[in-house]
Amino acid sequence: MTSGRLVLLSSLALALSAAAPAAASAAPLFKPWINGESPTEPIMQVQQYDPDTFVIRQSVKTNFEAPFLYLLFGKDKALLLDTGAGGLQIRPTIDKLIADWCAAHGRASIPLVVAHSHGHGDHHAGDAEFANRPDTQVVGLAPAEVATFFGIADWPRQIVTFDLGGRPLSIIPTPGHQPAHIVVYDPKTELLLSGDTLYPGRLYVPANWSGVFRESMDRLADFVRAHPVSHILGAHIEMTTTPGKDYVQAAPVHADEHALELPPEAAFKLQQTVDAMGDVTVKAVTDDFIVFPVPARQPDPAGKELPLVKAAP
Ligand SMILES: [Zn+2]
Repeated sequence: MTSGRLVLLSSLALALSAAAPAAASAAPLFKPWINGESPTEPIMQVQQYDPDTFVIRQSVKTNFEAPFLYLLFGKDKALLLDTGAGGLQIRPTIDKLIADWCAAHGRASIPLVVAHSHGHGDHHAGDAEFANRPDTQVVGLAPAEVATFFGIADWPRQIVTFDLGGRPLSIIPTPGHQPAHIVVYDPKTELLLSGDTLYPGRLYVPANWSGVFRESMDRLADFVRAHPVSHILGAHIEMTTTPGKDYVQAAPVHADEHALELPPEAAFKLQQTVDAMGDVTVKAVTDDFIVFPVPARQPDPAGKELPLVKAAP
């Protein structure tokens, strides 16, 4: 992308719209997401889930990953989960949301924690924008850094509470797709923010990590059985509305895109799918997601992660 295009896109700022209220009907949870079809779509689209919960999508035009970010407010602090895939500036949008929230609550500021669903490059590319932001803490990317920040003594078996102030989130370690992966459960909305562990798309798992992934999916499914979950919201959409059909890798436009949300039962479906595998990850296509093997992960004693290199479908 050229810098001239970047400036033009940056000037489009943010499109703020309210999500449709969660209803008992099968109505979509969100208004249509930006999907690359409109030549004038903004670089980020924000949908307000409730007054303290914002779901944000990065335009596929800025990066083919088109990830979703989540911003949650409690009484004491706010959490930004993921900072995007790069190719844009996200902080102006995030700062405006925080400023508007503070204004609505009659306060000057709120501390911000920037954490990540996991350590792949398409989820932390915007971290540098927050490095010098006042009253802001950016959580590290390695499993040990994530465990230390959230107070997880027994990674990945221990599920801990991270309280935003009247909003006690559960942090569920789910290594598999990537060693530092977490899933975040919010009891306020009953949303399960599942990152790249479970979303309507290709769930990439290294060929030699099926066992780690299986343990994580057992942990996640057990959690879902024990807690009310309204919807599972992941970090990408790579499935079409046709069951079992995904887009080609790096598709520039996502016409007829699958909904972002998955029902809680998707966690059980994924558990069953992974349970059926042996010690090597194999491709498994379901209506709403595809478990997709990628080359075996080599030991990484430094605990630092390189950007994911995705295999061609
Ligand atoms: Zn990703």
